[in-house]
Amino acid sequence: MSEFLPFTRPYIDEETIAAVGDVLRSGWITSGPKVQAFEKALSEFFGGRPVRTFNSGTCTMEIALRIAGIGAGDEVITTPISWVATSNIIIEVGATPVFADIDPVTRNIDLDKVEAAITPRTKAIIPVDLSGLPVDRDRLYAIAAKHNLRVVEDAAQAIGALWHGKRIGSFGDFVSFSFQANKNLTTTEGGCLVLNNEEEARLAEKYRLQGVTRTGFDGMDVDVLGGKYNMTDVAAVIGLNQLAQLQSITARRHALAKHYFKTFGADFEQLTGAQLPVADFEHSNWHMFEIVLPEGIKRADFMATMKEQHNIGCGVHYPPIHLFQMYRARGFKEGMFPVAESVGSRIVTLPLFPRMSEADVERVVGAVRKALSI
Ligand SMILES: *Cc1c(COP(=O)(O)O)cnc(C)c1O
Repeated sequence: MSEFLPFTRPYIDEETIAAVGDVLRSGWITSGPKVQAFEKALSEFFGGRPVRTFNSGTCTMEIALRIAGIGAGDEVITTPISWVATSNIIIEVGATPVFADIDPVTRNIDLDKVEAAITPRTKAIIPVDLSGLPVDRDRLYAIAAKHNLRVVEDAAQAIGALWHGKRIGSFGDFVSFSFQANKNLTTTEGGCLVLNNEEEARLAEKYRLQGVTRTGFDGMDVDVLGGKYNMTDVAAVIGLNQLAQLQSITARRHALAKHYFKTFGADFEQLTGAQLPVADFEHSNWHMFEIVLPEGIKRADFMATMKEQHNIGCGVHYPPIHLFQMYRARGFKEGMFPVAESVGSRIVTLPLFPRMSEADVERVVGAVRKALSI
């Protein structure tokens, strides 16, 4: 059988590995000069906006909500199709998650449904750019302005993506990115938050490290309850090397995604009843290539066939959040978000990562066709 093909694999080169060795030998391995350099490079990448790094792309969003003063009694609108972190952080700060169903084509939050879900208690919207395809930023910010809402963009998957030529992160309100191992840019684990001004950035630094402010040689005070969320220099030096390669990595992802469309062919959807992703080569960073299986095919069976007969790994991004036990206990149930439930039960992530070859894409497409028996 052919070699195992996972759905993703981090892109780490020898220079990055050497740079990690240098940091480990330097005598300073936690937050220090590399974190500062990485934040400076990220800020330049995001058009000069203030950026702070963290040890995940989850705490970034939690901290954004804290900075915005969102908590008990407030509602925050988000999508049911995301990594569960997106809505867990709403609960974490004491606020109430409110879901709006998704658009079946983009699989992102449906902005019409967002508008319909706004109440006097709504304080923020957390949109997610699933697989790196951006939510319509013009419409999003028009809704936020009209209803006086904060936005925490969960752009965990969208580094390097664009909105009409402008980089995601270079405009808007809070923008959160994840550098977890599977993301287009990784630091093993980590994340960053793009903020609006230096005041927010200083508050983010406090929330990041126990609420501490230091002054002079020995001054220290604590005025807010912070946590332990700082990035290490070991992680930051990986990020610096990754950021320098982001453009070529994104270009490679685009080329592979294009090859998927070409190999599936124009009649694939009609022949199988499966749905390909939106063929967007203007905005998306192609973080993932996700298809929605035809009705009547069990996803677990499809995945088992792909693995056992073709040695290909597939992923599930994501099952609907509102149907998890903890969310059901909060009153959510089947039928509330029918598009999310339909897509979330049939969506499958096919392999896509920079070191894949065109032949790998053809192997995957051949296996999918067989598994769907056409
Ligand atoms: C990865 C991811 C997160 C969480 O990031 P971590 O760095 O793993 O905490 C949040 N939202 C989305 C959409 C993600 O893909």
